[in-house]
Amino acid sequence: MDDKNTTIVDDKEEIVDGEVLDTAGDPKGDEEEYEKVCFVCRRPESKTGKMITMQPNLHICPDCMQKTFDVMKNSGFDFDGAMNGKSNGMPDMSKMPNISMINLADLQNMVPKRQKVKKKKPQEETEKKAFDIKSIPAPHKIKAKLDDYVVGQEQAKKVISVAVYNHYKRVATNSMDDIEIEKSNILMIGPTGSGKTYLVKTLAKLLDVPLAITDATSLTEAGYIGDDIESVVSKLLAAADNDVEKAEKGIIFIDEIDKLAKKRNTNQRDVSGESVQQGLLKLLEGSEVEVPVGANSKNAMVPLETVNTKNILFICGGAFPDLEEIIKERLNQQASVGFQADLKDKYDKEKNLIRKVTVEDIKNFGMIPEFIGRLPILCTLDCMTKEMLVKILKEPKNAILKQYQKLLALDEVCLEFEDDALEAIADQALLKDTGARALRAIIEEFMLDIMYEIPKDDNIGKVTITRAYIEKTGGPIISMRGIPALEAGQ
Ligand code: ADP
Repeated sequence: MDDKNTTIVDDKEEIVDGEVLDTAGDPKGDEEEYEKVCFVCRRPESKTGKMITMQPNLHICPDCMQKTFDVMKNSGFDFDGAMNGKSNGMPDMSKMPNISMINLADLQNMVPKRQKVKKKKPQEETEKKAFDIKSIPAPHKIKAKLDDYVVGQEQAKKVISVAVYNHYKRVATNSMDDIEIEKSNILMIGPTGSGKTYLVKTLAKLLDVPLAITDATSLTEAGYIGDDIESVVSKLLAAADNDVEKAEKGIIFIDEIDKLAKKRNTNQRDVSGESVQQGLLKLLEGSEVEVPVGANSKNAMVPLETVNTKNILFICGGAFPDLEEIIKERLNQQASVGFQADLKDKYDKEKNLIRKVTVEDIKNFGMIPEFIGRLPILCTLDCMTKEMLVKILKEPKNAILKQYQKLLALDEVCLEFEDDALEAIADQALLKDTGARALRAIIEEFMLDIMYEIPKDDNIGKVTITRAYIEKTGGPIISMRGIPALEAGQ
């Protein structure tokens, strides 16, 4: 430490960089504001648990202490002998190269001056949770909240509201005397960008339960390269801040579940498809799993926690690309038999054919029956239409247009979109065939110039986005404060 900045005030305290420290090198004053740090791993007491104080300014956390004991034991320290006074416990040092005992007093010189850090202020609850899972509201109230965020997908929202209501009721009552209520895990089928992930995220936020989102394609059977199946629970535990009780009431969303379909015509070992489905069965049903805390894989250095998945809500989602063909084939077969014989191409143009899906179709797709059996709630999401895309742009509580309007409002600029412009954005998004996901990319592209140029000129009071601007044949309409509108480029 630089001598210039250090002033001894009396023999009990000194000033370092304007802050009064006591002899232990710790900031004086409000004890509650500071916490001890481990001498070895440098983590604060709030992370490690109660510290062991070796010297006034030397603290060691329980983990590091335990590791020290383990190392000593492995290197031949005789704890029993030391305890009953038969020996000093020391192994024969001459037999151990590169090991020498440390005198604790020597450590004094190595100890950094400051051994406490300022505690982080607990984060204030910015958003009040919408529901309490202990007294879960009726399904129509859950759906009404989802309506604030998720556009369309009425059937899916309804099915999920009921499933979640039943699930958390079951969790709250623990178990019904003689009637065990079955777990309501959900299988969600819908094209990409139709809002599967978004629906689950919104639900978890409303319920204020931890959520882990995993891609099924990253999972492999234990022992192979990739994440093993139990890593999904480990992710949930991390999302619950390592609070097992909280994690056990959380939601796990496994996306791209259709990629686990049985591979046809293959004689290779299927480590990432059918066997992962098999591996997931136990988790879906409810079992105790030992998961590493703070890591993806088990190894000697990470502690393990046991998590029971009985009350974890599993939601699996996927686009199931060729499923419509399978449904169509089945419907055509049914329709071409007997008196009800129908036109063969009757279903070719039908939209949202996916709504007619049955368990049998999913089985034919390649999911194993035991797996489907553990996802008893089936819901489908519709393809995005132009109207839905326009609504997604402007209606949800956190709609992307509202976000830009708010940003510009901070500069006291009013941002407006002509209806025509919104339709043009929706048209462009439909062409990309990635559902609502395309919207953000399109908007970000043309809003970049606006967000760059507008703050340059304090006189601009209003910007109106037109269809011409979206189609790159014109500019936005810029209005100066107190002067009539002017089309950009004029
Ligand atoms: P996927 O079905 O592929 O999981 P996502 O849920 O990731 O699709 O959707 C991508 C983005 O599109 C979301 O982050 C959300 O902003 C928007 N989105 C999709 N569907 C809807 C919807 N029905 N209502 C509102 N926003 C939606």
